[in-house]
Amino acid sequence: MNCPVCKTTELTQINLEAKLPANGCGQCGGKWLSSFRYYEWLQYHGSTLPEKPYEGPPLAVAEREDAKLCPECRRILVRYAVGHGTNLTLDHCGSCNGVWLDTNEWEALKGRNLHDEIHLIFTRDWQTQVRKEERKKHLDAIYAQHFGKDYEEIKRVRQWLDQHPERGRIVAFLTDSDPFSA
Ligand SMILES: [Zn+2]
Ligand SMILES: [Zn+2]
Repeated sequence: MNCPVCKTTELTQINLEAKLPANGCGQCGGKWLSSFRYYEWLQYHGSTLPEKPYEGPPLAVAEREDAKLCPECRRILVRYAVGHGTNLTLDHCGSCNGVWLDTNEWEALKGRNLHDEIHLIFTRDWQTQVRKEERKKHLDAIYAQHFGKDYEEIKRVRQWLDQHPERGRIVAFLTDSDPFSA
């Protein structure tokens, strides 16, 4: 089985975790994870760990842009964004369900406790959530540009309003051009 990035380099047996064998590339540091091995490990791993913020030293994740072929069945791997505040993308084979992890991607996922949810990343629900996040980020950037230095304060007021029991009346008061006219 050859590396889908380096093409001529042969992948060797490695252990991603105890009871999780995978195939690694000695040249680019990428890793191939077969679906069967992953599901076996998931059973051993037990219940899903709660997601957490990343706290370790920064990891250099080398994203490879060009299309890759599945080292097992030669299909084109499809790239999926991981979302959840990460910039990671994973390459997935829709035929054998294997996953290609670029250098440090496993470590980065593990740092967020997302390594035991890899199988969910390729589902419609997960991807819908990712698109929602991306849209939010996009709009956030537009608002930030539009409102400039006031944006932080606007967000703070909005958050305060949202949890206020008199929200409706406060909004009416603020938007009334003259709330003191009879
Ligand atoms: Zn490689
Ligand atoms: Zn495949």
